[in-house]
This record gives sequence, structure tokens and C-alpha cells, in this order.
Amino acid sequence: MSTTVQFRMDPRSSQSADLILSEACRKAGKYPNQIGSLEIVHRSIDSRRRDVWVDFSVRLYDAGEAQQSRRGFEFKAVPSSAQAIIVGSGPAGLFAALQCLECGLRPVVLERGAQVEQRRAKITALMRDGIIDPNTNYCYGEGGAGTYSDGKLYTRSTKRGDVSKVLGQFVSCGASPEILYDAHPHLGSDKLPHIVAAIRQMIIGNGGELHFDSKVTGLVRKDGAVIGAVTEKGEEFSGPVILACGHSAEDVFRFLDEEAIEQECKGIACGVRLEHPQKLIDMMQYKGHPQFLPPAEYSFVTQVQGRGVYSFCMCPGGVIVPAVTQEGTISVNGMSASARSGAFANSAMVVEIRPEDLPARFAQYGQFAMLEFVRALEKRTFEFSDGTLAAPAQRMGDFTESMRSESLMRTSYVPGVVNSNLNALLPPFISARLREGLKHFGSCARGFLTNDAMLLASETRTSSPVRIVRDEQTMMSPSADGLFPCGEGAGYSGGIVSSALDGMNCALALEKYLKRE
Ligand SMILES: Cc1cc2nc3c(=O)[nH]c(=O)nc-3n(C[C@H](O)[C@H](O)[C@H](O)COP(=O)(O)OP(=O)(O)OC[C@H]3O[C@@H](n4cnc5c(N)ncnc54)[C@H](O)[C@@H]3O)c2cc1C
Repeated sequence: MSTTVQFRMDPRSSQSADLILSEACRKAGKYPNQIGSLEIVHRSIDSRRRDVWVDFSVRLYDAGEAQQSRRGFEFKAVPSSAQAIIVGSGPAGLFAALQCLECGLRPVVLERGAQVEQRRAKITALMRDGIIDPNTNYCYGEGGAGTYSDGKLYTRSTKRGDVSKVLGQFVSCGASPEILYDAHPHLGSDKLPHIVAAIRQMIIGNGGELHFDSKVTGLVRKDGAVIGAVTEKGEEFSGPVILACGHSAEDVFRFLDEEAIEQECKGIACGVRLEHPQKLIDMMQYKGHPQFLPPAEYSFVTQVQGRGVYSFCMCPGGVIVPAVTQEGTISVNGMSASARSGAFANSAMVVEIRPEDLPARFAQYGQFAMLEFVRALEKRTFEFSDGTLAAPAQRMGDFTESMRSESLMRTSYVPGVVNSNLNALLPPFISARLREGLKHFGSCARGFLTNDAMLLASETRTSSPVRIVRDEQTMMSPSADGLFPCGEGAGYSGGIVSSALDGMNCALALEKYLKRE
């Protein structure tokens, strides 16, 4: 019978499979020759005290005993089955497609951007020459924002669904099995394009379709119900629609408004990207030599004047990238490759914004008030730049002391930086809270608040500024049967795993809807 044991090891010993086995056996009171196989169930780093430890939970199986198997997707034959239209191939759209195949429905995915292999060239042009393709960029294209995301997979809550099924799917498409047990699993922006391409092959191989350069511009309706979608090229695709278009698809929110689909203004968080030399963060977290340990991370949260101020999407050894979809705007974000070996650590430093915090002039935009605020901030950020994608920047200590920086630091952000006063750029209800929040974090962690770190403006795309309303039971829009708002863009998830789970749940709801008809 299997036995589960917990123990901790020093970082060097934690690298050795033999030492892990002997420590697990010692804890379980068994000899290694009694063991058939070993499964790491959980691994985390405890750096709260001077000595850093790696904590393990390990399951030992007796000789001849089979390991518990993970349940993956089980696909049915679908060539002549009912069709489901999925708008967007981000994590929500791709996992909705996989779930459709398991339900015996034929998924037809419509994606405005390019296939991942062509997406790379557009990203290079964006970084090197500042050319923004409105359909293929860091947010749009095969795999959605998920493809060039950092690939942290921190959602562990099983409330939304089977997290292990999502992680298992990533592993079967090429991710490291370490994501199954690490406390802070990470895919890496170098691995994600290959994983996304493998998911595409799986969808097509099992009878689904993916159409690229197919921007959806409208819905097809019959007696009020949604029975299909139409693309910019005039092609029509029939079936109920899962709308998984991500948080930047302003054009989708606008055509839904024309179709009288109910939407509401949603709170978000905005601020800046903070960049430190990774060495400073390692020193701060590990209090010394980070040998045999991954590049260190941090996470901070506090309240200032009744609003949350927090770090978000921390990327150790990562780079800052332009997450823009339109000319004349700047929005920054962060990502890191699987090795996380870059010289910098970056993280969003953001302030919670509720609709009631917005200046009165935005009230006229109704459900689009937050969207208009975000675009206005992105345009203002561009006005502070030099007319390119160079990001307005200021040293961290200078920002908290409201002083201009005499010089800027080196940065991982390829389009470059422009010396700016970010207290003048950001609205006071963000900048004042951010200053206080950063000072508070500096008082919690020695070395964090420093002039050897830099803030880049503005971080605006943390979640969707609009929610497409849906019924909790049916997961459909109350304005139209057959329309399933899904994922981050619809305002029901944030991050890769929760978006994937929302996609799966929408596909299950769509199956029920078809059976009901
Ligand atoms: C740089 C960066 C780093 C990130 N790092 C992480 C991370 O480490 N961990 C994490 O969990 N999350 C991260 N995220 C967030 C994560 O990527 C998103 O939460 C997730 O991708 C949302 O999934 P989604 O499927 O709902 O939407 P998206 O991934 O945004 O996908 C939406 C898709 O819809 C398509 N689309 C839009 N409009 C149309 C239309 N009209 N017709 C057809 N197709 C359309 C888009 O092209 C896109 O492919 C990061 C995001 C960015 C930008």
C-alpha cells in the first residue's frame, strides 16, 4: 500500500533523486529495495528564516503497486456531430475545444490572429521596429495572451473544476512534469508556443477545426437566439457560440453592445511594471547565496485608503514586453523563459480601481467607463513616450519621494525607456496609493525599496474592464440563448488555469443546452 511522507531538505540535497528516495524511505521506515516507485506530490521552498529549506511531500509505492493515474481528456468521434463555435484560441477557447471533443461535439475555433509559428515574426517586428499588427501581437494570435505569457500556473482552487486535468494536458503536450507538484509551477514563454501547437494538433487530429486570420465581427441570430458567428471575410459558421475573446477585444464589446447583449463595467487594477536586478531579489529573499535554488520571487499586498495595492504576475529572470493591440498606446506586461535566467526580476505593481473611483467625465460611457479610462491611460502613457513604444520610466526611490530621476537604469524592455515623472503621468488616485504601498513593502522586506530598481508605465491589462453578463446556471447571456461568454475577456477568470477551466465549464454548459433543445 502506498505511504505519503513529508520532509525537508537543504537546497543542494534536494537536487538529488537518490537522496530524496533515501530520505523518504527513512521517514516511512522502509528500505529502498521495498519501494516500487516514488511520486513527488508537492515541492515548495521555505525561505522565511536564515536557512532556506525545500519542503517535500512524497508518495512511496510498494513493488508491484501501480501509481494513481491522472485522468486526461477522453475524446469521442465527432465528424458528423453537432458543431460548437468558439471565438478565440486562448486558454479558454482551446480548453473549451478539448472539452467539446470529450462531449462528442465538433469544435470550430475562430481566431483573429495568426498561427503560432507566424506569430513569432510579428512579435519580433513589434519589439524591434514598433510595428503593431492589430490582429497578431502579444495579446492576439494562436494561444491568445497565454502563448507569450509567463506561464505561471498558480491556480490551485478546485472550486472551478479539475485543475489536475488542465496541468496533465499541458504535460501531455510537452510541459515539464514538475508543474504537477511544484508549489509555484511555471511553463515559460519559450515552451508555451510548442505546447499550444501540440494542443492544436490534438484538436484537429480528433475532428475539430481551427481557422486563423478569422476575426469575428458579428453574431448570427434566429428568434433572438445566437445560432452562429460571422467573420470579417464574410464567412458564416453555424452553432451556439462560446465567446472567449480575451480582455483586449474592445471591438467585440462594441458589436455586442449594438446587438443589445448585456454588459457591465468591471473593476480592475492599474499601475506600473517594477524591475529590479534579479540579484537584489535573490539577496532579499534568500539572504545570501542562491546556489541550488531557483531565481527568487516575491509577493506583496496591502491596503491604502481603502483600496488594494499589490504585486501581480511576478517574473523572476524575466523581461518586460509591450502588451499593446492599438497604435498610439503603451501598456507593459512581463514574461520569462522556462530557465528564468535573465538578469532582471519584474512584477506588476498595481492599485485596485473600482468604477466609483473614476473621474466624473467617464460616467457618460456607462458600461464602457473603465474601458475608456484604461485606453485614456494607455494613450497618455504614449504621449509621455517619444512617439515610439519606449516606456516612460522613473527610478523607484525617486518615484516614492516624488523626485525626478537624474538617470535611468538598464532595462530588459527592448523598445527602451524615456525619463519621466510617473507621479504626473498616473492619476493621483493611483500614484498616491502606489507611493504608499511601495513604501510599506519596503518596510516589510529589506532591500526592496531602492533607487536601483525602476518603474515602467503603464500596466493596464491586468483583467477585463468589462463583464459580459451571464446566467450562473446556464452560463449563457441573459440577452441571448446560445451565447456563452467565457474566460478572462468576459470577466469570469484571470490567468491561464482559471481561463482553461472556464472554457471547459462553458463547453459542458453548451452540451446541456443542445440536449435541452
Ligand atoms: C505578457 C503576459 C504575461 C502573462 N503571464 C501570465 C502568467 O504567468 N500566468 C497566468 O496565469 N496568466 C498570465 N497572463 C494572463 C493570461 O495570459 C490570460 O489570463 C489568459 O490568456 C486569458 O485567457 P483567455 O482564453 O480568456 O483569453 P486570451 O488568452 O486573451 O485569448 C483570447 C483570444 O481571442 C482572440 N480574439 C479576440 N477577439 C477576437 C475576434 N473578434 N475574433 C476571433 N478571435 C478573437 C484573440 O486573438 C486571442 O487569441 C499573462 C498575460 C500577458 C499578456
